[in-house]
Amino acid sequence: MCGIIAYVGAKQASPILLEGLKRLEYRGYDSAGVAIINGQLQIVRTVGRVSVLEDRIKEIGSLEGTIGIAHTRWATHGEPAEINAHPHRDDRHGIALIHNGIIENYTSLRKYLEERGHVFASETDTEVLTMLISELYDGDLEAAVQGALREVTGAYAIAVICEKEPNTLVAARKGSPLIVGVGANEYVVASDASAIVAHTSQAVTLEDYQVCKLTPTSFRTSTIDNEHVTPRVQELELELEQIELGEHQHYMHKEIFEQPNSLRNTMRGRINLREGRVVLGGVGQYARDLVKAKRIILLGQGTALHAAMIGEYLLEDFAKVPTEVEYASEFRYRNPIIEEGTVAVAVSQSGETADTLAALNEAQERGALTLGVVNVVGSSIARETDAGVYLRVGPEIGVASTKAFTGQVAVLAMLSLFIARRRFMSTEQSRELLGALECIPKMIEQVLADSDRIRQVTERYIDRENWLFLGRGYNYPTAMEGALKLKEISYIHAEGMPAAEIKHGPIALINDGMPVVFIANRGAQYDKVVSNIEQVRSRGGRVIAVATEGDKDIKNYAEDVFYVPDVPDPLSPLVTVVPLQLLAYHAAVLRGHDVDKPRNLAKSVTVE
Ligand code: GLU
Repeated sequence: MCGIIAYVGAKQASPILLEGLKRLEYRGYDSAGVAIINGQLQIVRTVGRVSVLEDRIKEIGSLEGTIGIAHTRWATHGEPAEINAHPHRDDRHGIALIHNGIIENYTSLRKYLEERGHVFASETDTEVLTMLISELYDGDLEAAVQGALREVTGAYAIAVICEKEPNTLVAARKGSPLIVGVGANEYVVASDASAIVAHTSQAVTLEDYQVCKLTPTSFRTSTIDNEHVTPRVQELELELEQIELGEHQHYMHKEIFEQPNSLRNTMRGRINLREGRVVLGGVGQYARDLVKAKRIILLGQGTALHAAMIGEYLLEDFAKVPTEVEYASEFRYRNPIIEEGTVAVAVSQSGETADTLAALNEAQERGALTLGVVNVVGSSIARETDAGVYLRVGPEIGVASTKAFTGQVAVLAMLSLFIARRRFMSTEQSRELLGALECIPKMIEQVLADSDRIRQVTERYIDRENWLFLGRGYNYPTAMEGALKLKEISYIHAEGMPAAEIKHGPIALINDGMPVVFIANRGAQYDKVVSNIEQVRSRGGRVIAVATEGDKDIKNYAEDVFYVPDVPDPLSPLVTVVPLQLLAYHAAVLRGHDVDKPRNLAKSVTVE
């Protein structure tokens, strides 16, 4: 789930590990720890932020040594406490291990190991793996790791060191990402490229069931069955400046403001305006299957699910293919029907979302053609799908997804037009929509210029604990997304739903002064939205409207208005969501919350 960083080389490991942990902080975690070998194994673990760990290390004096492992934990088994924090250690051989993921058969393994005299200090599944490696250790750490991994089920990315082999670092993965950065006489292993780029741009992405043995001057990859694997060293596409904050106070702020450019990158080279065509290299080979598709199923969770909901409307509207959206977590356990001609599309920023990956595998198993709409290049979903379209929005570090959402909507719009043009849509209509899509980045720039005013309005409602977000048609999912953003980072209770739904129950919640955000752009259902606004106002709700520039009438109904430029209704979520992102951001800052590290949340949810 969370962060792994490990180092072996000639430099002092501790500063590299701590700096790496800070780069991984955005993934969300509850405790942190580090282990270094300098003659003997030294471990420091703390609950809370990496800065707490850093202070603890300073208290102890410095941690010397040129080989070490460090971890940020997002608890799955056992509460966030020092004893459960990683690294876990074994005293027989001085083995230390860090782990992301879940060992599913840990109960039976623990029983077996306890019978063999191992004493456990924590409640974690991870410690079981540590002890299993210790049990199998007979002087060869790599072999012991391979042997142990042959016995476990579940998901893991691990890094292991051992006092008895003070120059060896062993790493392995299955289901959780792990990258080995290859430097000059040094190696940096991390769960995410952002912790590696400061050291080297050459890296090997480990595949499932692969194990890597590293010393300061050598590295070797094999499978857990000890078959040799030739590693593929690739250039990391990430640039250091992409993951630096620059002039922004928070990553979320940076990423909201990056959207005009991130969307330009999403669309670059993919739109041929003159011919009214969309060029998607990643799915080109399957164009015929897509055109003949009888049904499309979009799978996602959280923000990606909201983007998928907009995708459903786009695909039915433009491409005329029956489409449905499902929570990946529900789809996979529900014995879904997949008929011939079904295409399953997995939408995920990280490409590692466990539920989405599992749903995708389920669809694949039942014969669907699978596509990925993901941001992280080479991620599990990208690798396991038949084809796909990358978002190309650059690394998203803020836990609350913003630029990935607009990237996903833009990709799904392009995918819809890609199919539509090959089915029923005229060149003229396609040209018009693609022209409008290309203008979106400029339109978002205009909305961003309103950020200060959005902050002032937010401030007026900052003490309210319950909010509603309402929209219709294409902007019903936008309302859901607006509510989710507010929940995630400001911890304010918010619900998003179709505007017409309130009278079937939720209108009972409306009391004097309750803020209700309406997405009331000039779209097909504008008049209906206005009626819904009236219903809310007459019950004392305070209406904040997102409306189309030039709509003066809306001021008669709404107390506050955030104007967005006029864009065709199907593409409007790309602009109407921006004031909602800013509202959530300002609310969190005004309430004094840590915007980039919201409580209880992790960036890439690799557990079910
Ligand atoms: N399952 C492990 C634990 O609870 C690892 C969690 C993680 O990925 O951080 O300690």
